[in-house]
Amino acid sequence: MKNKVTVFGSFVVDLMARTPHLPTAGETVRGSIFKQGAGGKGFNQGIAAHKAGADVAMITKIGTDTMADVALNAMNEVGLSSQYLFRSEVAATGTALIMVDERTGQNEIVIVPGACNTITDEDIAKVEDVIQDSEYLLLQLEVNQDANEKVAALAKKGGARVIVNTAPYQQVDDSFLNGCYLVTPNEVEAEQLTGVPVTDLESADRAAEVFFRKGVQNVLITLGSRGVYVNSEGRSEIIPAFRVSAIDTTGAGDAFNGGLLTALSEGKNIWEAARFANALAALSVQKMGTTPSMPLRSEIDAFLEAHT
Ligand code: ADP
Repeated sequence: MKNKVTVFGSFVVDLMARTPHLPTAGETVRGSIFKQGAGGKGFNQGIAAHKAGADVAMITKIGTDTMADVALNAMNEVGLSSQYLFRSEVAATGTALIMVDERTGQNEIVIVPGACNTITDEDIAKVEDVIQDSEYLLLQLEVNQDANEKVAALAKKGGARVIVNTAPYQQVDDSFLNGCYLVTPNEVEAEQLTGVPVTDLESADRAAEVFFRKGVQNVLITLGSRGVYVNSEGRSEIIPAFRVSAIDTTGAGDAFNGGLLTALSEGKNIWEAARFANALAALSVQKMGTTPSMPLRSEIDAFLEAHT
């Protein structure tokens, strides 16, 4: 099934090195493995939704440097159209420098969002029709926030349902959240945005109330391996995650949001969509990497069938 959804967000090239220990200030460490790959929350979520079967318009901004090819190649590889990519002549393609301690899995990350932090009104004007014609628009907080605000306002005006994945955390205006169909913080972001520490159903209900007062229609809080809290139309529940042996949970939230978007656009209700997204994320955490670990629709369907 194909439906029109738009993902608007970041693209960065992940430059990952594994090292015997994380360097201290001034120290140089000889690493063991280097990997380069397509990343950024927006891009990861767009790829996840596309691989899960949604008809995705992926909007992001890259530079004109060689790093930009990483985005184009990744899209080409999975057959996702690059027609909605903006190009900056001045800013470099975004990058993320990731160091991973090979013994503990601990990491240190520096993100330089570059081009995807310079999205202008002129850029947005080029995709106004796409945004307004979408059934759903999915955003994160990893591009310049004034662009997010403009895109969300356009979508609301056109009747698209706006989903905000509030990652990575930053404070946002209530007017941005007002009228959004759904917010999808993880438990840390939920606390940062509402002031309510989320530990169980009761505290999640209180955090959700804060979002409702800001004008959000539905609330979903991801709880890692515990699953996801959903509050919709006066009912709230925690839907457990699937039990799998995780080897790399980087990008689990991105997998989840891409899956959620896909299922919602196919007419599934929030509860069904959350289960579908749990399955997609459970499959993704069993593989290394972010975009390569996003499962295909056939794998998601088979997993769900085996777990009913
Ligand atoms: P984020 O990566 O944004 O912090 P979470 O850690 O809350 O997000 O994970 C998002 C979703 O990924 C969870 O709601 C769950 O569906 C799935 N998930 C995360 N970790 C695991 C795990 N260890 N086993 C199974 N599913 C997981």
